[in-house]
Amino acid sequence: MHTITDVDKYTVEDVRHVNDSTYVLQFSRGGMEFKPGQHLNLGTKGSGQHREYSIYSSPDNSSIEVLIKLVDDGVVSQQLRNVQPGDELSVKGPYGFFLTDAKPKKGEKLLFIASGTGIAPFHSFIMSYPEADYRLIHGIRNINEAYDREHYKADRYFACTSRGNKGDFNGRITDYLLSGQEKKADKVYLCGNSSMIYDAMDILRAQGYRHDQLFTEVYF
Ligand SMILES: Cc1cc2nc3c(=O)[nH]c(=O)nc-3n(C[C@H](O)[C@H](O)[C@H](O)COP(=O)(O)OP(=O)(O)OC[C@H]3O[C@@H](n4cnc5c(N)ncnc54)[C@H](O)[C@@H]3O)c2cc1C
Repeated sequence: MHTITDVDKYTVEDVRHVNDSTYVLQFSRGGMEFKPGQHLNLGTKGSGQHREYSIYSSPDNSSIEVLIKLVDDGVVSQQLRNVQPGDELSVKGPYGFFLTDAKPKKGEKLLFIASGTGIAPFHSFIMSYPEADYRLIHGIRNINEAYDREHYKADRYFACTSRGNKGDFNGRITDYLLSGQEKKADKVYLCGNSSMIYDAMDILRAQGYRHDQLFTEVYF
């Protein structure tokens, strides 16, 4: 596999704002090969500052995309928001094994649970394997955080909104899981903030999921 070093050149192609505080950064792919679920170490060229970002786009695309939420007073999420087409980025990776074993198998049901931009690795996977038998539960505050919802089949994407009430479920992911409405899957993948992941794991274990059915990627 071609592993990325700074020998490759990555230039910004586009910054697409999906709402006031979140954007999709698109840049040239160079010779990079990756699997859905992997992440990069990314920063502006010369800043010396990098952070991890899951790849949002599919390996079938000629460019790379990442989905970034602006963190208040955050260094890199703010720096990357201000880049312009043609600017060079510093990119290392790809890294990680999250989802890399999840290639769809006939009859296997996958449950994806994401908070916020934790939806990014699932987006890459679903764009790569639209035929997968998945359900995607997305925990967000308001419905304007349902990033690119139209990219998913309507009956497979399910928003849990904790503050606004225009989601498919009004409440947190954990409240939804506790309600027992979600059908049992063969494997569950969770991505996003640690408190959601740990609380959801407790609920899923209590509902009978085994350790080897649960997979996690913690962002912060
Ligand atoms: C494997 C992995 C993949 C990741 N993928 C993504 C991704 O696809 N998209 C994305 O937006 N972020 C992702 N992150 C988080 C990202 O790496 C940075 O932590 C985030 O962008 C903040 O960096 P910063 O330099 O702006 O803030 P910093 O200056 O580093 O610090 C800001 C503070 O914000 C906290 N923080 C980090 N992320 C968030 C958040 N989303 N909301 C609220 N507080 C936060 C940190 O814990 C820290 O205390 C990922 C993290 C990991 C470990």
